[in-house]
Amino acid sequence: MTNKYIYFVANWKMFGNLRSLNSLDKVIKFSKTNKKKKYKIIYCPPNTLIRPMSKRLKKTTIQVGAQNCHHTYEFGAYTGQVNSSMIKSVGAKYVILGHSENRQIGETDNLINLKIKSAIKSGLKIIFCIGETLKEKRSKKTNQILKRQIEKGLKSIKNKSKIIIAYEPVWSIGTGAIPKEAALTQTISFIKSRFAKKYPKILYGGSVNNKNVEKLKKIPNIDGFLIGGASQSSKKFIDIIQKTII
Ligand code: PEP
Repeated sequence: MTNKYIYFVANWKMFGNLRSLNSLDKVIKFSKTNKKKKYKIIYCPPNTLIRPMSKRLKKTTIQVGAQNCHHTYEFGAYTGQVNSSMIKSVGAKYVILGHSENRQIGETDNLINLKIKSAIKSGLKIIFCIGETLKEKRSKKTNQILKRQIEKGLKSIKNKSKIIIAYEPVWSIGTGAIPKEAALTQTISFIKSRFAKKYPKILYGGSVNNKNVEKLKKIPNIDGFLIGGASQSSKKFIDIIQKTII
């Protein structure tokens, strides 16, 4: 990792209630005592916690994001959905889009493209997830899949300054398995090669924990991590940050 800001994005998935916000206190304390290092912490809780979490983090450098949003920018008759301007209005500065758990239940590249455009219009930064399944990896289609996801997901988006790519191999999410060093180095370099000179930040996500992060941080051109399971424990999350930034 270089001298750039290192990102630590916590994806709480469908976990957490108001009481879970107490776990932030340790992370707030950590960030206040480690002000000089260049890193950013972004918490992406369920939508129900965006507002109370934003309030709790008000006087800190820690930011809040959502885990998804509807593709329509306008209000509309979409029961159970929230759009990008609604999550922005309650304190989100970021939104995770294209997560494989949503792709698996029917989110297409085209739909993700509309969501990204709507999020940009609302002034949000986008953590755009891409990644291959185990079957695709085994049939050596990783690059082909990533190319398609990037091209379709970012179709006709000229200004990519709000985009952060999160490479998350689907087979790695929540399984404890991580890519081999050489393979991950190659994949990150492939993602980088899909962009012009100024490429977006690239995060790695998939079973990142306090035991493997020291290995993962050595991969060139990784700007940080998207962390699911391990981010629910403030102790483990702080340990991951500490091991990366020292
Ligand atoms: C994720 O949900 O984006 C993720 C990377 O999960 P985990 O860290 O639990 O594999």
